[in-house]
Amino acid sequence: MINEHFLNLSGNYLFAEIAKKVKTFREQNPQTDVISLGIGDVTQPLCPAVIEALHRAVDEMSGGATFRGYGPEQGYDFLREAIARNDYKDRGTDISADEIFVNDGAKSDTGNFQELMSADSVVAVTDPVYPVYADANMMAGRRIVKLPCLAERQFVPDLPEEPVDVVYLCYPNNPTGTVLRREDLKRWVDWANEHGALIFYDAAYEAFITHPDIPRSIYEIDGARKVAVEFRSFSKTAGFTGLRCGYTVVPRDVTAKTAAGDSVALHPLWKRRQSTKFNGTSYLSQCAALAIYTEEGHKQIKETVDYYLKNARLMRVTLECLGLRVYGGTDAPYLWVETPERMPSWAFFEEMLREAHVVCTPGAGFGDCGEGYVRLTAFGERSATVKALHRVEEWLTNK
Ligand SMILES: *Cc1c(COP(=O)(O)O)cnc(C)c1O
Repeated sequence: MINEHFLNLSGNYLFAEIAKKVKTFREQNPQTDVISLGIGDVTQPLCPAVIEALHRAVDEMSGGATFRGYGPEQGYDFLREAIARNDYKDRGTDISADEIFVNDGAKSDTGNFQELMSADSVVAVTDPVYPVYADANMMAGRRIVKLPCLAERQFVPDLPEEPVDVVYLCYPNNPTGTVLRREDLKRWVDWANEHGALIFYDAAYEAFITHPDIPRSIYEIDGARKVAVEFRSFSKTAGFTGLRCGYTVVPRDVTAKTAAGDSVALHPLWKRRQSTKFNGTSYLSQCAALAIYTEEGHKQIKETVDYYLKNARLMRVTLECLGLRVYGGTDAPYLWVETPERMPSWAFFEEMLREAHVVCTPGAGFGDCGEGYVRLTAFGERSATVKALHRVEEWLTNK
């Protein structure tokens, strides 16, 4: 018999649904060029430091003495040490290399980490949400509690009113582009410590934070080492969406309880899980990731992040001038735009595609609270982004 929990998932992955609609439009209008401000993939190529590291690693693979086969499941020490030093220790956060698990990108681990929790754990996700957290827990048959994120509270969810065992937080947020201030994040960490709950913290967009007082890691908050697992990725930070590399931080202090009430550390369980089901990220990807921690690599990836942030600023200014209400786009590559008169988001998507030939992502695809919003991404080429903005401007002013 099959796992019937799969039948409770919504029929189509959101982006597959969008791609289908865009494909149909293109077939019916072969002359028009459609610009996508929809899917969250990057457009700028890998930086030179990464490319050089890749070439060197490929050459090593060709020599008998330097060839690498299976690597350590948790990742090579050279990368884990660079991550612990650069992303944590040098920023005053207490995370050691041994607590880093290198992976093939954050989607796998944000989806897989729930395997450590019992099937009857109650899981909270925000609404709107990055679909992976909710879907992975649906597949496991868990009960999911939704935490509405509303404009009047800057899309920061309230603490759950009912008992919850795990909460997924993602900041800077996909899809709303909003951030958590230190005091907001502290409220969550304190709540988790008080209630014996865990926080699965997705910091995939940490590199886009510009304000110095916005926390880049949950471990900047006291008490987080006991309750939080953090997911990071080189995908948006360094354009690794096709190369694949990310990492998960599981501090030694994070524990959860057995049915009998004993505390069990998650770190050895995750290590056990990974060594059974995961055979490591490719040596090439890990050498490439190491290159972004060099001085020139760091500088180069920052230039690309700034390029996207400039797109985001242009988009924000233009859309606000058109009278739209816009959120995000200052510490994130996403803009969350209220549709005129809260028009249904799929209707806005269809109209913008038909009239401006620009693709957005309907907010309703991220949850009920996303209705009346669309997500635009700043990951486009500058010229395409500017062109798309002109078209939207023309469409909305003549509407
Ligand atoms: C893009 C993204 C990731 C990263 O996915 P990868 O598998 O590392 O490419 C993780 N979380 C969120 C919310 C994302 O948008």
